[in-house]
Amino acid sequence: MDQIQVNITEMKEEIKQICKDCGRTDDITLIAVTKTVDTEKINHAVSCGVSNLGENKVQEIMDKYDAVDKNVKWHLIGHLQTNKVKYIIDKVELIHSVDSIKLAEEINKRAEKNNLIKDVLVQINVAEEDTKFGIDLEQAVDFIKSISVFNSIRIKGLMTIAPYDLNPEGVRPIFRQLKDKFDELAQMNLPNTEMKHLSMGMSNDYKVAIEEGANMIRIGTAIFGKRNYNI
Ligand SMILES: *Cc1c(COP(=O)(O)O)cnc(C)c1O
Repeated sequence: MDQIQVNITEMKEEIKQICKDCGRTDDITLIAVTKTVDTEKINHAVSCGVSNLGENKVQEIMDKYDAVDKNVKWHLIGHLQTNKVKYIIDKVELIHSVDSIKLAEEINKRAEKNNLIKDVLVQINVAEEDTKFGIDLEQAVDFIKSISVFNSIRIKGLMTIAPYDLNPEGVRPIFRQLKDKFDELAQMNLPNTEMKHLSMGMSNDYKVAIEEGANMIRIGTAIFGKRNYNI
C-alpha cells in the first residue's frame, strides 16, 4: 500500500475508534483537503475511499474540477470573495466560509440565477484572532438571523478554524463553545436554517474536535503529507 492509501485507511479506523471511545454513533464526514495537491494524487485518494474534497481557493477548484472524478463532493473551506461566487456556485456541495451579509447575499443571488438552493455554513472566529475570518461567537445568532431571510441559501451549520496549538487539548474550549452555540441555534427554529453540520478539526486537532461534537473534519496534512507551496 502507498502512503496516501495507508493514511486514509488509518484515518478512517482512527475516526471509528474515537467515536467508539466517546460513545458516538453518528457519522463523521471526512473531507480531504487537497490544496496544493495535484489531480493525479487527488484521484488516487478518491479511489482509496475519499468522497469529499476541500479547497480553500476558488482558483484551485476551477483548475482541478474537470480532471477530478465527477462523483466527489467539493467543499469551499477558505475565505470567499463575493466576485468569485459565480465561478463555484454550481460546483461546490457546501460553502463553509460565509462570514458577511454581503457574501450571503451574493451566494443567494447566484443560487437563484442558477435555479438552485445552496447549502452554507457560517464561519465563526471563536478565538477572535485578527488573522482569521469569521463572525464573532457573540454575533453568531444575530448574523444568522439576518441571513436566514435569503430563500436560495440554507444555513446548515457552523465552521471554525481553531488557533494552531501544539497541544490539541489547548483548543478543546474553542470547540466546546462552538458546539454550545450550535446546540443553541438548533433550538431556535430559524427560517432556512438547520444545524446539521459542525465543521471543525484539522490534522492536528481532529480527535479533540470529534470528542467535542464535530461531524465534519477537514484533513490535509495527515492524508497527503506536508504541503509544498512552491509548486
Ligand atoms: C488547509 C486547511 C485545512 C487542513 O489543514 P491540515 O492541518 O493540513 O489538516 C483545514 N481547513 C482549512 C480551512 C484549511 O485551509
